[in-house]
Amino acid sequence: MKIAIDGPSGAGKSTFAKLLAKKLSLVYVDTGALYRSIGLYVKRKGADPKNEAEVLPLLNGVKLELKYSDMGQRVILNGEDVSDLIRTSEISMYASDVSKLSGVRSFLLEIQKDMAKRGSVVMDGRDIGTVIMPDADIKFFMVATPEIRAKRRFKELCEKGIECSYDDILADMIQRDKNDRERDIAPAVPAEDAIHFDNSDMNIEETLDAMIKIIDGIKK
Ligand code: C5P
Repeated sequence: MKIAIDGPSGAGKSTFAKLLAKKLSLVYVDTGALYRSIGLYVKRKGADPKNEAEVLPLLNGVKLELKYSDMGQRVILNGEDVSDLIRTSEISMYASDVSKLSGVRSFLLEIQKDMAKRGSVVMDGRDIGTVIMPDADIKFFMVATPEIRAKRRFKELCEKGIECSYDDILADMIQRDKNDRERDIAPAVPAEDAIHFDNSDMNIEETLDAMIKIIDGIKK
């Protein structure tokens, strides 16, 4: 079984991809972590993430691997586990900027296609249903209102003890979604055969139940 989950930031893609992976014994692949790792590398090199001429030559120095352990997916950048370092809002914007560059997208294509070929996977991202796994058995396009997504992210960060502002989170989210949706290559839009899934008014249990029902319906 191959499940694709796309949608804007903070819609719960990774939460539900992880829960589905556990329940259905699938491998969970978080493709955003790859773009974030490139973003981190570009930042460390002091390059402008929007400038293709600065970013593309840097890719020669990048080796990315995805590993799986008890802690879930880990992303290894040139031998260093950067899985936790890539979670900042600054790196989110770097990821969104580098993800517009065609050279970056093709650089990351093979590793993602390779994971897709391994069989039973649930992958989340922005172009999984359209580019990476157009043959997925089920494609969800997960959405919720920007305010609800920002509220959830704010709560999550507060619970982790990270100081943040709701207004900044909302503004960042709106900016990043616009970037991702309006870019020329692989924009974050639903595949034609994707299921539009709005979980604005649903809690975690309700969302998971609804997704499982849809999956069971398709399996029959
Ligand atoms: O999913 P996550 O928020 O970690 O993704 C970070 C950024 O990486 C997104 O805002 C998007 O610009 C980019 N991305 C992408 N295609 C994917 C996954 C992520 O362009 N399949």
